[in-house]
Amino acid sequence: MSLKINEVFYSIQGESSFAGRPCVFIRLTGCNLRCSYCDTQYAYEEGNSLKIKEILAEIGSYECRLVEITGGEPLLQKETPALIQRLLDEDYEVLLETNGSQDIDRVDRRCVRIVDIKCPSSGEEEKNDLKNLNILTDKDEVKFVIGDRRDYEYAKRVLNLIPVYSTRIRAAHFSPVFGKIEPKTLAKWILEDHLDVRLHLQLHKLIWGQGQRRV
Ligand code: SF4
Repeated sequence: MSLKINEVFYSIQGESSFAGRPCVFIRLTGCNLRCSYCDTQYAYEEGNSLKIKEILAEIGSYECRLVEITGGEPLLQKETPALIQRLLDEDYEVLLETNGSQDIDRVDRRCVRIVDIKCPSSGEEEKNDLKNLNILTDKDEVKFVIGDRRDYEYAKRVLNLIPVYSTRIRAAHFSPVFGKIEPKTLAKWILEDHLDVRLHLQLHKLIWGQGQRRV
């Protein structure tokens, strides 16, 4: 069993309630979306085929028990659920960041599934598989990357589709598009509406700067 891997790297987790923790990232090659603000275009095609045992050997060299599977879109590769299961069986804490267009039911429920729901300004809103909202558990998180007021209103509508969302999932993140909307604008809207969400800033961009992901 092998997967096409764009990169494996060790850095600080920056885009979930695990933000701030050291984490090994496995970025899988390929994405079915083309979001307007995408900063990982290099992952659309480039990568090398690695067997699961080779991936595990590389991860083991970092001495870190938190692992995130990201992309691209990781669930496009049919072996991804097997990789996640193997990591969980080896007692890693595993996060999956997925773009919201793929069925997350294939993923072991011990994994923390961070589902990115695409808002209108991404240009990919139509690709959201909203059936995922009914599969989320109290381990899972959702994330909305918000570029304008229309995105914000969309995110609020989708949150209302999650059954009793504040108790069914671990967290809902509202994240401003870097350079497009001021965090304080989004903060003001959240406070005005008394939303039970987390204003989320992309920590890795604050630490390393735009386009950097590690030391
Ligand atoms: S889903 Fe992620 S990797 Fe794919 S185009 Fe959108 S931002 Fe880029």
